Amino acid sequence: MYEPLEILKRVYGYERFHPLQEKVISHVLDGHDALVLMPTGGGKSICFQVPALCRDGLTLVISPLVALMRDQVEALKANGVAAALINSTQTLEEADQVLQDIAGKRLKLLYISPEKLFGGFITGRLSQWNINLIAVDEAHCISFWGHDFRPEYTKLGRLRELLPGIPLIALTATADPAIRRDILAQLSIDENSVFQSSFDRPNLHLSVLPGQKRFERLQEFLKTHRNQAGIVYCLSRAGTEDLAGKLSRLGYKADAYHAGMSTEARHRIQDAFLKDEMTIMCATVAFGMGIDKSNVRWVIHWNLPKNLEGFYQEIGRAGRDGLPSDTLLFYSYADVVQQLKFLDEASPERRELLTAKLDRMKQYAEAMICRRRILLSYFGETLEEDCGHCDVCENPPETFDGSVVAQKLLSAVYRTGERATLRHCALILRGSHAQEIVEPGWHDLKTFGVGRELKFEEWMEYGSQLINAGYVSVAYDRGMTLQLTPLSRPVLKGEKSVPLVKFRSFEEKKAAAPQPKPAAADDGDPELVELLKAVRKKLADEHEIPAYVIFSDKTLKDMASKVPKSSLEFRQVHGVGEVKAESYGPIFLRAIKEWLGTGS
Ligand code: ADP
Ligand code: ZN
Repeated sequence: MYEPLEILKRVYGYERFHPLQEKVISHVLDGHDALVLMPTGGGKSICFQVPALCRDGLTLVISPLVALMRDQVEALKANGVAAALINSTQTLEEADQVLQDIAGKRLKLLYISPEKLFGGFITGRLSQWNINLIAVDEAHCISFWGHDFRPEYTKLGRLRELLPGIPLIALTATADPAIRRDILAQLSIDENSVFQSSFDRPNLHLSVLPGQKRFERLQEFLKTHRNQAGIVYCLSRAGTEDLAGKLSRLGYKADAYHAGMSTEARHRIQDAFLKDEMTIMCATVAFGMGIDKSNVRWVIHWNLPKNLEGFYQEIGRAGRDGLPSDTLLFYSYADVVQQLKFLDEASPERRELLTAKLDRMKQYAEAMICRRRILLSYFGETLEEDCGHCDVCENPPETFDGSVVAQKLLSAVYRTGERATLRHCALILRGSHAQEIVEPGWHDLKTFGVGRELKFEEWMEYGSQLINAGYVSVAYDRGMTLQLTPLSRPVLKGEKSVPLVKFRSFEEKKAAAPQPKPAAADDGDPELVELLKAVRKKLADEHEIPAYVIFSDKTLKDMASKVPKSSLEFRQVHGVGEVKAESYGPIFLRAIKEWLGTGS
């Protein structure tokens, strides 16, 4: 029996536990079950890995995806921990070796999918394995109400009968109350064993931009994120390929990833991303679960996601190392339409739930108040103060009396007989002689050209605001044409004033936003950091493991700031445990020595 803190320092090279980790670990070591709710990057793995290493015996880790298991096992092995996995892609010999290691009591952690667990002879052997703890990772997969529901996960309740008295710890990054109740019920965990940390991820910057000119915006964004790894989430498979193609032609190291590609191609692309050979991943939501890459510096949503759960999990893939990272969502009402169309396929009961979730997502995108407040309130948390680290906080919206603007737009809707889209209305108000306006004869309307004082983009923006506020609606089933609503009439008659948020161009917004901060003093010399990254890359290639399994970015920065000159000093660097100090220490120390020698 080891002390948890001793394991943390010796194996992982970390100085202290996060507050909740400590509580969970002592609860579990006392023989109790636990449900751990922490955001992505919150440090869930330590909660079951450390207890596993404190005690004799084997810890069984249930995980839904092979990629996820592989990464965690690699990371554990790099720290000198005896971990293995059983999955369907293994050869018989490999699986046999694992079983022998279990019989010989040489293994501390075994990762396994529910299919394998219940699919064959393994169920019958469990009781002989001296299991000390069961960990159910990504536990939300058990719930029908979750976005990652996996039917085979619902069998996991059987483990309680198969392994009576063995503590079970379930972990997830989803804090939705319905899902949480489901996990507790199915796994027979009691209400007093729930540990929930704050879902706030203060290192993530939150921002939203209107969906017009996305590609130009993206290029602007990339200029300030050179050579940084990032993910662009797109709605469609074709979208990912199109975007990756465009970016590649401009010289970016970008690639597409979606469920329609062969397993082999997906592995290759994922690998290149993990190894920092490719930096921009254009993907559908099929990508990401189980990606442990800690140095993803930004996540962009090209389209509006279906709900805040998924959105938060996706942006959560940025900045798992705790370093500042950016998130950006493009928002247009065409994306809302698209999402609503998907809902048509759902059963009526499910549709109601999904529509409500989509509404919360829209509220985030349209927020006039601190976005983090909206996000956290979804997870049942309240912030004491505005976060100061989202676009709304940095650049609070300015409102004005938009009654005249609203009247002009609504009268265009009225005079076109509710047969025009927002784009048409904007063109009519601007007095455009485009074919699409002249053909229906709209250039003869009384409203034609009465809105020349505003730019096209401004009309589009104010139009969306009026739609969002319900002064006009979109007929999704009639070519997205604008329709009057009960709220329109009082506005048209001048009986009601309409506040609007002042339009600001992208350039104005950019000018008003605070400039990115220069590297913090304790980040070390950037030149040395780059050099250490190159050393890491070379090692990763040699050992055929992802770069971050060797060391995280945070570790390299701490190394560059501490500039260790001996193995003793090397061991003081954040994230350097006993085994890594031994296996990688000499190589990094040599590189640092040479760098110092070249006299900078
Ligand atoms: P999650 O599974 O909750 O998404 P991880 O377990 O992958 O998060 O942890 C995220 C990162 O934080 C990892 O790089 C992990 O090594 C690191 N980490 C976890 N606990 C600590 C700690 N107590 N001190 C320092 N780093 C930690
Ligand atoms: Zn804020």
